Amino acid sequence: MSPKKKFKHPNSNQAKYTFHKKSDLFYLLKKIKLWPSRVGLLHGIKSIDINSTYADILLHCGHQLTVKNSKNSRAARWLRNKWMVEPCKRCAVPDWKLEKYRNTTFK
Ligand SMILES: [Zn+2]
Repeated sequence: MSPKKKFKHPNSNQAKYTFHKKSDLFYLLKKIKLWPSRVGLLHGIKSIDINSTYADILLHCGHQLTVKNSKNSRAARWLRNKWMVEPCKRCAVPDWKLEKYRNTTFK
């Protein structure tokens, strides 16, 4: 287990999120509440249950998955690069959330 890293916490009053490129995947998921699937769908995260290096994620459309924490994981890269094709219809991700994500910057 790696020691807890220090992150710059986004100010909740700001409309925009800014994350460090090296942000921990679970931290990103907890803040953004969106999950990029391999086929390019952007799902909404209903709940995330973190167990040290693994997290159990429940999506709004009912899918459940377990992910390993990694800065270099596919999901982290997809989130940073915004490589999603479209939001999952069954998750019904609200527009404001998508908008907020679009305005999120990684530096
Ligand atoms: Zn979904």
